[in-house]
Amino acid sequence: MCLYGIYKNVNIINPDQNRSVVPVDACIADEIKFLNDNSVITLASCCGHGRAGQIHTWSNAYGEWKGHHQPPIVLIREDSIHLAEDLGYRPYPYYYAEGEHDRVWNLLLKTGCITMEDCRKWHKVNKVPFKRDLGLLAESKRSASI
Ligand SMILES: [Zn+2]
Ligand SMILES: [Zn+2]
Repeated sequence: MCLYGIYKNVNIINPDQNRSVVPVDACIADEIKFLNDNSVITLASCCGHGRAGQIHTWSNAYGEWKGHHQPPIVLIREDSIHLAEDLGYRPYPYYYAEGEHDRVWNLLLKTGCITMEDCRKWHKVNKVPFKRDLGLLAESKRSASI
């Protein structure tokens, strides 16, 4: 990554969203923009923040959970999977905690922060201090992560 709490605004095309611009983890913002520019409807995304593969525990209304942190990923709508495949991605279904699928698919991203080393590199290349929660970065600051 980028560490937690560093974003860039991206224009999204999802007609069900009440906003057309959303903050996205900075190091994957260009790729999320690329997907939207190519008509892929994106939902939530996360760059992984350098923790892919590590174990974490959490709880929600459905119980106590233990699992692996995800690599850089975005959820897309089912009607976008063929477009995503044409762009070279291999989407797979997303299941909610209660076992429902609801036409949402995972897309593994090509950019983002798999290891903490990736985070460090991204901050260095983009001249962003290696600190969390810097908030929204200026639009003009182009990511070199793609
Ligand atoms: Zn990142
Ligand atoms: Zn994130």
